[in-house]
Amino acid sequence: MKKIVVFCGSSLGFNPIYKNAAIELGNYFVNNDITLVYGGGKIGMMGVLSETILKKGGNVIGIIPSLLKKEEVVNKNVTELIITKTMSERKVMMSKLVDGYISLPGGFGTLDELFEGLTLGQLHIEQKPNGILNINGFFNHTLKQLDHMVTEGYLKKENKEMLLIGNNVSELMLKMDSYTAPKKSAVINKVIKHDH
Ligand code: AMP
Repeated sequence: MKKIVVFCGSSLGFNPIYKNAAIELGNYFVNNDITLVYGGGKIGMMGVLSETILKKGGNVIGIIPSLLKKEEVVNKNVTELIITKTMSERKVMMSKLVDGYISLPGGFGTLDELFEGLTLGQLHIEQKPNGILNINGFFNHTLKQLDHMVTEGYLKKENKEMLLIGNNVSELMLKMDSYTAPKKSAVINKVIKHDH
């Protein structure tokens, strides 16, 4: 994988374990020559991750919609800054550029981006690996909700399994590297069967 988009909080969180996870992932990207594509911010987890990579001479592409491009928010040190008109244009550009998606702990924005990627995979519009770094069990409650959706008949188990889970950086990257998307016919058949 050459380029990976990372979705993560515009806040840092209260526990320093999350900041350290962003640093660890940043170091992995530099050591493995992976370009970071991200939301372009200098705040919170986004700031820590991007600065970790930039300080070590790695490549960072920030993609930010013009409405968020305020002086105090945007990381001007990035290797390349792409400004889009809208949030949705940004998402399309991000998904076109990258080989995979990773989400670190975050809030609404992070979950929105994570689930948009999963939805594209479910519809087989894309076949890219999509993983979460479940550091400190941060996503355990989200994963419980997904299990509940499977139990209640709103999410196919196979589609849930598209989401790759790593409890640490090396476990996650191993899964990202060896991911094979479910076959198209299998996915579409399941959607159709489910609907009738
Ligand atoms: P949140 O998880 O709600 O903090 O939102 C973080 C995610 O949404 C990031 O992955 C960004 O792509 C996007 N985002 C939210 N706020 C900003 C911001 N101020 N600047 C750039 N991107 C942002």
